[in-house]
Amino acid sequence: MIPLTAVRVDEAAERAVIKVLRSGQLAQGSVVEQLEAALQAFLGVDHVVVMSSGTAALVASMTVLGLGPGDEVVTSPFTFGATVNAIVQVGASVRFSDVDPDDLTMDVDSAAAVVTSRTAALLPVHLYGQAADLHGVAVLAARHGLAVVEDAAQAFGAAVDGVPVGSLGLGAFSFYATKGFTTGEGGAVTTADDGLASKLGRLRNQGMARRYEYETVGHNSRLTDIQAALGLSQLSTAGATIAQRQDNAVRLSAALQGVTGLQLPVVRPGRRHVFHQYTVSVTEDARLTRDGLQQSLWDRGIQTAVFYPRAAYDHPCYRDHPLVSCEPQPQAEKAARQVLSLPVHAHLTAAELDYIVDSVRELLDV
Ligand SMILES: *Cc1c(COP(=O)(O)O)cnc(C)c1O
Repeated sequence: MIPLTAVRVDEAAERAVIKVLRSGQLAQGSVVEQLEAALQAFLGVDHVVVMSSGTAALVASMTVLGLGPGDEVVTSPFTFGATVNAIVQVGASVRFSDVDPDDLTMDVDSAAAVVTSRTAALLPVHLYGQAADLHGVAVLAARHGLAVVEDAAQAFGAAVDGVPVGSLGLGAFSFYATKGFTTGEGGAVTTADDGLASKLGRLRNQGMARRYEYETVGHNSRLTDIQAALGLSQLSTAGATIAQRQDNAVRLSAALQGVTGLQLPVVRPGRRHVFHQYTVSVTEDARLTRDGLQQSLWDRGIQTAVFYPRAAYDHPCYRDHPLVSCEPQPQAEKAARQVLSLPVHAHLTAAELDYIVDSVRELLDV
């Protein structure tokens, strides 16, 4: 079986984790600080505040911006549930825009159409490893005085015109096991704002400025030194891993060009796509349905996945939620019917890549 994702922890990482285990200092401490400094350099951002998860990072971002009841946050409905859950958790209302039909990230014109006097923030999702249209988002945010929170959970290392994601607004990254950079569970908020960075640091630690001095109502959103050690040890290879995924994507796209009914991932000019996923669309003129193709690839030993089978508002828990507004978004719904992610991970061999291409071609070529 060719798996969709391959999580590998090398011996250097094992040694780094064991060192922390033997140190007696397991919770957030100096290794977390080292990880933050290293991430700051790797990502090219001013501040990194690591958190216990990407969801915690999203919630903390909105909390330090003061978003809450009465505020509307505009986001994409074509995303993981965490994006919506985080907005609801801070008590703000969710408004959905549609997505761009080609890159499947926030369609800025459609976002502009749902902005009201209550809108307080835009929350674009950098889907599959490609940044949303951050220039468009910046213009719209400036026009209406909106805050920007970037869901960069899938976009570790992505950039627009050389500017890393997570530097326009607050950037929320996830270090979940299958993400581009992982600590098992974990996340981070990036920001260029010194004041917000210190607030984020306090918020994740029960709102304390110093021990037992509570400056704000906070949470426990800390990462452990054990997790941080796992992350730190991977950072030396993170660049090569991204480059390998990008190479694999180029190879897949070159070989899958011109297959009837297959729309290949679009890389926008100026955007650094880190290919967290390599996602094709199976259109109506394909020989198989999307689900048929997925089943046939599975039968041939190739694991694929549908991220995501429904627009977020198409789940009753959101549709019936008083804080979530659910106007239909046709491009998001079309994407939900058509997308299929093929393996692109850094451990694929050349023979496996060829096998994936040959299998797709055999199944779809007319
Ligand atoms: C993974 C993910 C999250 C949440 O991250 P966790 O670390 O699992 O909490 C949020 N948004 C998107 C788009 C994701 O893919």
